[in-house]
Amino acid sequence: MGFSTSLQGQASHEALLGRQDAEIKLLETMKRCLTSKVKSDREYASTISSLSSQGKKVERCDDLVGSLITQSWRDIMDCIDQTAKLIKQQADSMENIVIDHINSLHSERRRARKLYQEEQTWLTNQFQQLSEDVARKKTEYQKNLEMYKLARSRFEEHYVKSGRGGRKLDDVREKYQKACRKLHLTHNEYVLLLGAVTDCEHDLRNCYLPSLLRRQQSIHQEFIVAWKKILQDTAKYSHFASEKFVEIQAQMKAAADSVNPLDEYKDFIGKHGTRPASPLRLSFDENLVDNTSGKLLPNKLTVDNLTIDWLRARLTELESSLKATQQNRQSIQPTENNSDLSKKTPLDYSREREELRLRCQEKKISRQTEIIRGALNELGCEELPSGCDLSMEGSFTEPSTQSKTSLKSKKFQKNLGPDNGLFTLRRNQHLLAMIKKSPLKYLPPVNDTNNIAMSHSAGSSPTPIRVNSSRYTVPSGLNNSTNNQKSSGGLIEEEWFHGVLPREEVVRLLVIEGDFLVRETTRNDECQIVLSVCWDGHKHFIVQTASEGHYRFEGPAFPSIPELIRHQWKSGLPVTSRSGAVLKTPILRERWELNNDDVILQEKIGRGNFGDVYKAKLRSCQTEVAVKTCKVTLPDEQKRKFLQEGRILKQYDHPNIVKLIGICVQKQPIMIVMELVAGGSLLTYLRKNSSSISQREQFRMCKDAAAGMRYLESKYCIHRDLAARNCLVGNESIVKISDFGMSREEEEYIVSDGMKQIPIKWTAPEALNFGKYTSLCDIWSYGVLMWEIFSKGGNPYSGMSNSQAREKIDAGYRLPAPDNTPDEVYKLMLRCWEYEPDKRPHFEQIYNIINALCQSHV
Ligand code: ADP
Repeated sequence: MGFSTSLQGQASHEALLGRQDAEIKLLETMKRCLTSKVKSDREYASTISSLSSQGKKVERCDDLVGSLITQSWRDIMDCIDQTAKLIKQQADSMENIVIDHINSLHSERRRARKLYQEEQTWLTNQFQQLSEDVARKKTEYQKNLEMYKLARSRFEEHYVKSGRGGRKLDDVREKYQKACRKLHLTHNEYVLLLGAVTDCEHDLRNCYLPSLLRRQQSIHQEFIVAWKKILQDTAKYSHFASEKFVEIQAQMKAAADSVNPLDEYKDFIGKHGTRPASPLRLSFDENLVDNTSGKLLPNKLTVDNLTIDWLRARLTELESSLKATQQNRQSIQPTENNSDLSKKTPLDYSREREELRLRCQEKKISRQTEIIRGALNELGCEELPSGCDLSMEGSFTEPSTQSKTSLKSKKFQKNLGPDNGLFTLRRNQHLLAMIKKSPLKYLPPVNDTNNIAMSHSAGSSPTPIRVNSSRYTVPSGLNNSTNNQKSSGGLIEEEWFHGVLPREEVVRLLVIEGDFLVRETTRNDECQIVLSVCWDGHKHFIVQTASEGHYRFEGPAFPSIPELIRHQWKSGLPVTSRSGAVLKTPILRERWELNNDDVILQEKIGRGNFGDVYKAKLRSCQTEVAVKTCKVTLPDEQKRKFLQEGRILKQYDHPNIVKLIGICVQKQPIMIVMELVAGGSLLTYLRKNSSSISQREQFRMCKDAAAGMRYLESKYCIHRDLAARNCLVGNESIVKISDFGMSREEEEYIVSDGMKQIPIKWTAPEALNFGKYTSLCDIWSYGVLMWEIFSKGGNPYSGMSNSQAREKIDAGYRLPAPDNTPDEVYKLMLRCWEYEPDKRPHFEQIYNIINALCQSHV
C-alpha cells in the first residue's frame, strides 16, 4: 500500500494537494512559534544574566570578606550567568539551525507541491488529449459512414434506374467508390488510433501515474525525515536539563554545599576579633550633683523627709513586683538541657528568652530593693531624723567637692518617724502672732561700714551680727533669754526671721560660712519654719516638733523657736550631724523687708500684671504709699518675677524713678510698697488733661523721663517697657519711671525664652528681630514716649496692627510728628528711631538736648 496504488484517483490527488497545503501552513506556524521562543529565551537569558551581575555586586562589600556564604552566592550567580549564556546559545541554535531548516523545508515543500501539481495536470491533459483524438476520429468515422451510406444508396438508385451503364452511373459509382475508400481509410485510422491510444493510456495509467505517485511518496517521506530532524533539533535546543545545564546545576549545588557554618566567620573573627567586651559604663555623672549643695550624692539614695514616703512606697511596690516576677519565672517550664542548638525549637528559644528577661527583671528589682532597704537600714528605719534638710529644693551653686566630702564623713544616723516629724505651724496660728514692731522708716542707704553691728551674747564674747544694708537696730532676741516666748509667735519679733522671703533672696543674703536666718515656707498648704544656713553651700532645716509642743533639730527640744535657734547658735553644735552646719552669724532683715501688717491698704488705684495696686498707709507714720499686690494664686515662678521689680528698684534712688519703700513677704499676698505718685499713670494724665497741657509741661515731662532714663542707663539697667503707661505723674507733674517688671540689669540682654507680651509698637527693631536688648532699645521707646507726650496720649501707629507697624518700620516708615510738635523735638524723635542702634543718641545726649530746648522754650 502506497501512494502509487492507493492515491491514483482524482479525489486522492486533490486530498494530497490539500495535505501539502496544510503541511506548508504547519511549517509556517512552527516558524512563528519558534521565532517567539527564541526571542523570549534571549530575553530571559539577558534578564538572568543582568540579575546575576547585580547579585555579584555584594562581593564588593568589605564587611563580607572571607564569608563562605558570599563565596557560594557568588558561585551560584556565576552558574546563573552560565545558564543564561547556555540559554542564549540554545536560542541562537534554534534560530540558526531549526528555523533555518524550517525555512528551507518550507520553500522546498512549496516547490514540490507545485511540481506535483504540474505533473498531475500534464497527465490529466494527456488522458484528455487521447480521448479527444479518439472522439474526433469517431466523429470523422461517423461522418464518412454517412457519406458512404449516401453514396451507396445513390449508386444503387442509379444502378437500378439506369442499368449497368451510363455516365451518371459512373459518376455516382465513382463517388460511391470514393466514399467507400474514405470510410475504409477512416475506419483503419480509427482502428489504428484506438490501438495506439489504448497503449498510450495504458502506459500513462500503469507506468507513468504510479511512478509519479511513487516519486511523490518518496519526496514526502524525505520531507518528513527532514521535518523530524527539525523537531528533534527543536527538542534538543529546548532542553533545559541537558548535560550542560545539569553540569551547571551540579556546580550550583556544590557551591551551596561548600558553605560550612562553622567556618563562615573564621576570617571575620580573624579580621575583626577584639578583646572580650568590657562592661557598659553606666556610671553616675557627678556633674549632675555639682549644684545640689552636697545633698545629693552620686550613687547614693537621698533619704530625707522629702523622699522617705516615696522610698517606702517604692520598696513595697518593688517587693510585690519581685514576688510576681519570681512566680512568673517559676511558671515557665524549664527547657531540656539540650546543647544541640540545631534541635532547639522556636518555642524553646522563646521560653529561654522569656526566662532570661524575667531573670534580668528579677535582678533589677531585687537590686533596687536591696539599695532602698540598705538606705533605710542605714537610717535605722523606724523614726525620722531630727531636722530635715531641704536643699533639694534649691539651685545653689557651691563647690561640689567640698560638700561631698563633708557629707561622706558625716553619716545621717537618725531614724525616720512615721509622721516625717515635720513641725508645721498652721498659718492662722502663725499669723495671729504677727509682730507689733514699728514699721521701717524709709531711710537713705548707708555706708557699708554700718553693716556690722556688735551684739553681746550672755556668757560669751561679743558676737558679730551682720546687718544688711541700713539696718538700724540690733536685735536683742538672740542674747536675751528672758525674752523667750512660749510660742512660735515670738519668732516673728526676731530680726533674723525673714517671713516668706523667697529662697533666691535667702541665698543672696547668706554669703559667709555660718550665716543664718529663719524663714517660713509653705509645703502642701502648711507653713513650715525653716532655718537656712550658709554651710557647704546652703542648707535648709525644717524645725520639728518634739513632745509637749517643744521644738528641736537633732539635739534637745525647746519651748520656743527663738530659744531653739539661740541654743543652736550659742552652743556651736551642728544643726544635724549629717550636715555639720554651725550657726555663726544671724542675718537680719533688710530694711525693705516690711511686715504685711505694717501696711494698711486703702483704695485700689490701678491694676498691674500680677495683681491690683492700692493706695495704702504705713501704720507707723501714716505715710501714704502705693502697694502692688501679687495674687496669692499665682505660681511661685510668677511670684519670683513679681519680686524682681522690687529687687531692681531697691538699688535706685533718683527723683525720676519711682522709689521702693519695701517688700512685704511675711505672708501672702506678697506686696511691693512704693512711694505714692499721686497723679497715676502718665498716659491717663495726658489724656485727661490734654486741653490744658502746655508745651512747656510737655518739655518738662520729656526732660524728667530723660533724667530718669539717663540714671538707669548709668546703672546698666535696661527698662524694656518704657511707655507713657509705665510712667507715673507726681506733684507738679513730675514724671517718674515705673514698672520695672521687664527690666534687666545688664549691658546687653538677649531674650531666649520667646518674645511673649512684648510691647511691639514701643520696641526697637533689633529687639523684635533678634531679641537683642540694650539701653539703645530704651532710646527707641523713649522716642515713642516723646511722641505720646506731644500727641497728648495718642495711640502710636493707630489703625495699624502690631505686625503691620513692625513691617512698616522695617521698611523705613516712622511715626509722623504730632500736631504742634516743634521741629527740634520731632528731629530728636527721628534720631531715637534710627534703625541702626548705634546711630541713636544716648540718654545723656537726649537729656542735654531736651534741657536746652526746655530753656529756650520757657
Ligand atoms: P504692673 O507692673 O504690674 O503692670 P504697673 O506698674 O503698670 O503694674 O501699675 C499699674 C497701675 O497702678 C499704674 O498704671 C498706675 O495707675 C498704678 N500705680 C502703680 N504704681 C504706682 C505708684 N507708685 N503710685 C501711684 N500709682 C501707681
